[in-house]
Amino acid sequence: MTQARFDLVVIGGGAAGEKGAAQAAYFGKRVAVIERRSEPGGATVHTGTLPSKTLREAALFLSGHRQRDLYGVSVEISRDLSVARLIHRKDAVRRLETERMRVNLDRHHVELVYGVARLADATTVEVTDSDGGVRLFAADAILIATGSHPFRPPGIPFDDPDVHDSDSILEIDRLPASLAILGGGVIGCEYASTFAALGTEVHLFERRTPLLSFLDAEIVERMVEGMTALGVRFHLGVREETVTRHDGRLVCALTSGDELEAEKVLVTSGRVGNTEGLGLEAAGVQVDDRGRIVVDEEFRTAAPSVYAAGDVIGSPGLASTSMEQARVAVCRAFGFAYKQAVSELLPFAVYTIPEISSVGLSAQEATDRGIETVVGRAPFDDNARGAIIGDREGLTKLVFDRATRRLVGVQCVGERASELVHVGHAVLTLSGTVETFIEMIFNYPSLAETYKYAAYDALAELGPAEG
Ligand SMILES: Cc1cc2nc3c(=O)[nH]c(=O)nc-3n(C[C@H](O)[C@H](O)[C@H](O)COP(=O)(O)OP(=O)(O)OC[C@H]3O[C@@H](n4cnc5c(N)ncnc54)[C@H](O)[C@@H]3O)c2cc1C
Repeated sequence: MTQARFDLVVIGGGAAGEKGAAQAAYFGKRVAVIERRSEPGGATVHTGTLPSKTLREAALFLSGHRQRDLYGVSVEISRDLSVARLIHRKDAVRRLETERMRVNLDRHHVELVYGVARLADATTVEVTDSDGGVRLFAADAILIATGSHPFRPPGIPFDDPDVHDSDSILEIDRLPASLAILGGGVIGCEYASTFAALGTEVHLFERRTPLLSFLDAEIVERMVEGMTALGVRFHLGVREETVTRHDGRLVCALTSGDELEAEKVLVTSGRVGNTEGLGLEAAGVQVDDRGRIVVDEEFRTAAPSVYAAGDVIGSPGLASTSMEQARVAVCRAFGFAYKQAVSELLPFAVYTIPEISSVGLSAQEATDRGIETVVGRAPFDDNARGAIIGDREGLTKLVFDRATRRLVGVQCVGERASELVHVGHAVLTLSGTVETFIEMIFNYPSLAETYKYAAYDALAELGPAEG
């Protein structure tokens, strides 16, 4: 059996794998990436982030959602439109992104190897290619970046062609008249908005309340109002007991005692780490009960030469964070005097309609940490750009520490919230205060200007700075 030698072998060519590999190669290490699919990209490119966002954009464009209220335009979308056709743009985006990844790996002289990898031991990776050929790759360090797949709760009939998880929903051939979404986490809320914008009657079930509890309650409330106006029906505190087919009808029996009939069911119950068959026991790597690899703050597993990053280690399960974790893991593995930790300021974006985004602390989190806060708000309907685009739900909310006047958190809801949040993110990173926004001049008309007025709102309570 042939054996190649590398400084680093990365298992998985997704968001984390690509960035970890490039980081090590940038500092002169010899690196191989092993990918089991025929293309790099992982969930970000093929089943998750980009396809779902492309579908969302198609829904917004085709439904005329953004213009509906302004110009009285109402568009009905044909049920026969397949989701695949709706997201044909996804293929162009996918091609662009996989090509960019290949070029990036090539430019860094990273060897991209196609095959299924498993650990033979803590410093050797065994790769089986599609013809059954097996090669061994010895490495000083191994980075596991194998991602995750949708969790399929027991008792749900996934063999029914109308019962889907977040991977198979992208392959449906026509838009359903009605859709029951079981699970109101980020993915459930995003798909609820998208399908509602496409004209599907959407019912969203979430057993835990409040919804998206890790985000600011006021911002989530506005999101819920916007989604309700779009037609999403929320069933909170309720979950499915069974999903069955009766006389050809798909029926969800609920814990409330009610029954709901839907043309399709989408189950979004979280994700499970891709660790099966990886040979983790052979290398001494530990996993938890959802298959997530257990790591320390350096992203090192129980086996000292093996690191793990991205979805395979669990929360927060974002492409943005996965990439950064992998960079840090590699810097730690080789002792580079570079990225030693993932920033504590993790931005979150939820691409619902309206979208929401946050970074830093919510007012509640700040209070829980003993910080006395002052909150400034600027709704988009008081903003010239907001009025032009007709955004009624939009809000920029800033949380300041009363004692230091420093910004401690930013929450946005509304058009382009995921972009807008980074204005505040930069100020937060640079330890800016309420005065930072008061001094800044913003484009007019722009949504970014809401930062200045949210700061003035806070200033009204804070009073002028001393000295
Ligand atoms: C519907 C949906 C929407 C999302 N939206 C967002 C969003 O808006 N923003 C955001 O930041 N994140 C989003 N995410 C999350 C994001 O997709 C993931 O966090 C990200 O893909 C994780 O990257 P990763 O590299 O850890 O794993 P992946 O991208 O899953 O990559 C893992 C790779 O490893 C390969 N692999 C697995 N096992 C083996 C093996 N044994 N041998 C060789 N190769 C192997 C896989 O084929 C895959 O290519 C979304 C996810 C979903 C499902």
